[in-house]
Amino acid sequence: MKPEYDVIVIGGGAAGYFAAVNIAEKHPKLKILIIEKAKTVLNKVRISGGGRCNVTNRISDPAELVKFYPRGEKELTGPFTRFTTSDTVNWFEQRGVKLKVENDGRVFPESDDSGTIIKCFLNIAEKYKIELITGVNINSIFKVNDIWNLSSSDNRHFTSEYLLIAPGSSKTILDILKKLSHTIIPPVPSLFTFNIKDSRLKELAGVAVKNVQCSLEGFKKTTDGPLLITHWGLSGPSILKMSSFAARYLSKINYKCKLQVNWLPRYKKEELHDLLLKIKEKNIRKGVIKTPVLEIPLSLWKNLVLYSGINEDQKWFELSNSVINKLLE
Ligand SMILES: Cc1cc2nc3c(=O)[nH]c(=O)nc-3n(C[C@H](O)[C@H](O)[C@H](O)COP(=O)(O)OP(=O)(O)OC[C@H]3O[C@@H](n4cnc5c(N)ncnc54)[C@H](O)[C@@H]3O)c2cc1C
Repeated sequence: MKPEYDVIVIGGGAAGYFAAVNIAEKHPKLKILIIEKAKTVLNKVRISGGGRCNVTNRISDPAELVKFYPRGEKELTGPFTRFTTSDTVNWFEQRGVKLKVENDGRVFPESDDSGTIIKCFLNIAEKYKIELITGVNINSIFKVNDIWNLSSSDNRHFTSEYLLIAPGSSKTILDILKKLSHTIIPPVPSLFTFNIKDSRLKELAGVAVKNVQCSLEGFKKTTDGPLLITHWGLSGPSILKMSSFAARYLSKINYKCKLQVNWLPRYKKEELHDLLLKIKEKNIRKGVIKTPVLEIPLSLWKNLVLYSGINEDQKWFELSNSVINKLLE
């Protein structure tokens, strides 16, 4: 018996749509169906990049690009070579989407609106009459006589010659794939902020430090970059990078671990000691918590000073060498 569709795509997200419209452009006669469990499609694309959609990056050399993927370096070298970031830029521009590169290398639609990307996908899908069914959750996949048979939780059935699975991190689909003899590496969260209760962060929500170095107890790699203190702990690129590099380690230790932040990574400990002595000399009669120290925001400096046992009214001349050393810990 002939299947109803030539290609069924499970998942109406960025991956599903990009795949479906490319197949349609190359093979316009194929009957293609996208099945999406949500009521609307491309929902993550809409909120991506703060609503602007960071489409790709200026870095085009695959060898350089893979370094930004902590656990996918080996696996992504092939795909990034076959379809580079320049190919992505060309792909959108050839379909009328004007893009711009920002100073940090990120590429956005000129419109600064993720809706432009969504419209591009939907227009092509409409042009090639790609069918779409929303609100349908596929919960069973099996093959009979070389034909893919799909069923949904509301008991609908679909058949197709080819099947493309793009359901993001859906656990249901991962479990189905496991049953179909695929090897699944269990996914763990990545790119998250840290929940930390520490008196040194008290009342500092919103304070940002330009460049810190982070390390986790028991984990080799360090990360650097800006850091943001939040109401619940820490965020910013240095933390997000750490959450990504240490994703598996953190999952293994149940997200309980000591984090060390070097607030002034540009300086060696001895250099900092000398610098603090110079600051002491210059501000000998001033209050320690009131003296700005290098790039550390004053409010953070105050908390660090109080944490090290120096009291609120203490002046620099009252600090002994050993107290200064304690400040550096
Ligand atoms: C806040 C935020 C900002 C982001 N910003 C950016 C950015 O600027 N640039 C960037 O490149 N990336 C960004 N990302 C990441 C990006 O959104 C994702 O990597 C991308 O959307 C993944 O696309 P996908 O199609 O693989 O998965 P998804 O977008 O998750 O799509 C999968 C779809 O499959 C559907 N589905 C799942 N299971 C089933 C099922 N059983 N039956 C039917 N349908 C099913 C889901 O409902 C979903 O719509 C951001 C993500 C977030 C959360």
